[in-house]
Amino acid sequence: MKTSIATVSISGDLSEKLSAIAEAGFDGIEIFENDFLAFDASPREVGRMVRDAGLEIALFQPFRDFEGMPEPLRGRTFDRAQRKFDLMNELGADLVLVCSNVSPAALGGIDRAAADFRELGELAAQRGIRVGYEALAWGRFVSDHRDAWEIVRRADHPNVGLIVDSFHSLARRIDPDTIATIPGDRIFFVQVADAPALDMDLLYWSRHYRNMPGEGDLPVADFLRAVASTGYDGYLSLEIFNDQFRGGSAKAISVDGKRSLVNLMSAAAETGHAPQLPAMPERAHVRRPVFIEFTANEAEAEILRDTLVLLGFVRVAEHRTKAVTAFRQGEINILINREKTGFAHSFNLVHGLSVCATAFEVDDVSAALERARALAIEPHRGEHGPAELDLPGLYNVGSGVLHLVDSRSGLDRLWEVDFSERPAGDTSLAGLARIDHIGFAMPADEVMSWQLFYTSLFQCEKQPIFDIVDPAGLVRSQVVESADGALRLTLEGATNRRTFAGHFVSDSFAAGVHHVALGTDDIFATAAQLRELGFQPIEISRNYYDDLEARIALDPDLVDRLRADNILYDRDEHGEFFQLYGGTLGQGFFFEIVERRGGYRGYGAANAPFRIAAQRRTLRPKGMPAI
Ligand code: MG
Ligand code: MG
Repeated sequence: MKTSIATVSISGDLSEKLSAIAEAGFDGIEIFENDFLAFDASPREVGRMVRDAGLEIALFQPFRDFEGMPEPLRGRTFDRAQRKFDLMNELGADLVLVCSNVSPAALGGIDRAAADFRELGELAAQRGIRVGYEALAWGRFVSDHRDAWEIVRRADHPNVGLIVDSFHSLARRIDPDTIATIPGDRIFFVQVADAPALDMDLLYWSRHYRNMPGEGDLPVADFLRAVASTGYDGYLSLEIFNDQFRGGSAKAISVDGKRSLVNLMSAAAETGHAPQLPAMPERAHVRRPVFIEFTANEAEAEILRDTLVLLGFVRVAEHRTKAVTAFRQGEINILINREKTGFAHSFNLVHGLSVCATAFEVDDVSAALERARALAIEPHRGEHGPAELDLPGLYNVGSGVLHLVDSRSGLDRLWEVDFSERPAGDTSLAGLARIDHIGFAMPADEVMSWQLFYTSLFQCEKQPIFDIVDPAGLVRSQVVESADGALRLTLEGATNRRTFAGHFVSDSFAAGVHHVALGTDDIFATAAQLRELGFQPIEISRNYYDDLEARIALDPDLVDRLRADNILYDRDEHGEFFQLYGGTLGQGFFFEIVERRGGYRGYGAANAPFRIAAQRRTLRPKGMPAI
């Protein structure tokens, strides 16, 4: 299927939109009449601009309040259509969208509407134009694609067909399989949009909250599967009305849009036989995190090294040719990169001490890279010596890099090939066994991009967004995780720069890894070991523990133990969760230590305000008032 996007979906004037859309690799656009009217060029010039950008005008829209009008309105409606057809001829557009009538003057009746469309089809045919009819979810008489199809069927004109839009069908919970019985050649155009599950007026929901397929909660892949089963092989087009997108970067939104369409087609192709959907490797299965790489100058490296030692990490290897040291505990590998050139160094110049790269083991790196290419994820080429591994990398939505390794290509031999291992001693000093989750912080309007990036590349799902209450403002938090827990990410979207996450984003000039949570199987043993090593957790307010005792009637002895070690506690229907936090490094990065007991599924969100308050106390310069 060819891909397209409505000009209304992104920001900018028409020429800015065209270049962003073309660059993202779309085949066509839907021209929204208002975008055209607001742009100071003739229809012929606009048509030429579109074609010069390598795009096709896939659809012109909307034509409103057409069918079922009584005279004299009916006559005027046909005059209006004539003028639009003339304009379309000049633009070089051959398909117009007519959406179902919402006018109070409209009359109902399927045959009346069908007769109007037959006559319109005749007019359109004389100008080489086709007419597509779309049921708006809030149409006066027609609000269901099944009724729109019946009108198109009875109009029985080759220039009149159906347009389906996932939002209008799915928002009204119409079974998408009802599309599967419509002949594919009678469907002229297919629009897709997702939306978050919100209980609100359909029109308002549609005009402000639509988002890219995969970013919301509607079953858009089921919709496309039904469309594909009809044999339809025309345009698949994004029609997204979203206030945030219209105020965002045209380039970033266009790239997200293309990525969401590719991901959607791949999801729809996985379960059905649909030759018109592109074949590509399925989403990569993540086996485990392999390493976290920090970039640091010499002074920062010393601070980080000290912190790692206090956490029980030991130095296990040195890179053979680069200033990179590996620390290990359990399965956790942490690299400190002190190179004076290359990617890590430039990252350090901009962001200071920070995580510049993460690495995950997947089943098949080359399949994952092929999928990444299809998703328009930018590859990262690192420098490597002739005897060293060429570790493939991808640029994150922010500025960091994501490395992939696997065993089939030998990339998992990283430690033997690129590093010289040294006698390390005890690599389980404090019982930290694995990376539990990686936390990213970003501006709130980037959360959906990050979520789409990970859920389209890896086998993982997004969880519902929830708000974390920071004393300085809300932080929108979304979890992305795989079913087996090998990949767990928390995405924290700062709504303003005074929040703790917002501080991080503005101080480090970018979104990035904000914290890494290390998992232990015995939080109290770990806390005791850490105390012995001299590690100082951040101090949690005494009131938190009093509240804990009162709120969830926790055993007072357990509360005493938690209080003594500054451990936070949470539980869900599956089990219990324990959290311990270190102080901040660099621009606000921190380590979290967690224990999951009995299959606890969450991330301790209920504790976030107490953790944030404690971290603020450590950040605040002496004598400054609390924020
Ligand atoms: Mg539509
Ligand atoms: Mg966390």
